[in-house]
Amino acid sequence: MSSTVSKVCKISSIIVGILCFIGGIVIGNVLGGRDFDFVSMITAWICSFLFCLFLFAIGELIDLLVAANNNLIVLAEQQEELASRSSAPAASTSPSASPAPASGDWVCKKCGMHNKADNRFCRDCGTYK
Ligand SMILES: [Zn+2]
Repeated sequence: MSSTVSKVCKISSIIVGILCFIGGIVIGNVLGGRDFDFVSMITAWICSFLFCLFLFAIGELIDLLVAANNNLIVLAEQQEELASRSSAPAASTSPSASPAPASGDWVCKKCGMHNKADNRFCRDCGTYK
């Protein structure tokens, strides 16, 4: 997934590159007068090439940052999931260890969650009673 900003950076770097390629030839023509000024043209090309590279690098950097940010979000979600998984059995062992659940209460066969009698579905995993 790449962000719009990075796309804009990359596309504009290509556009700037094309424009500067033409611009370099124009500069060479204008500065050179009758004789074509190759040095100015090549200097313009090198400058524009570096500028394009810079723009493109910013685009790449944004992509990397976005990817890293997404990875962090995924990691955080995984950690939350792990935390909820590890807490679920701990929460379920205490009610099942305690003397028989109150009238009609039931324990989920899938996750071991203690559910109230009037709950038809497990309030933790949604499994039918
Ligand atoms: Zn359950």
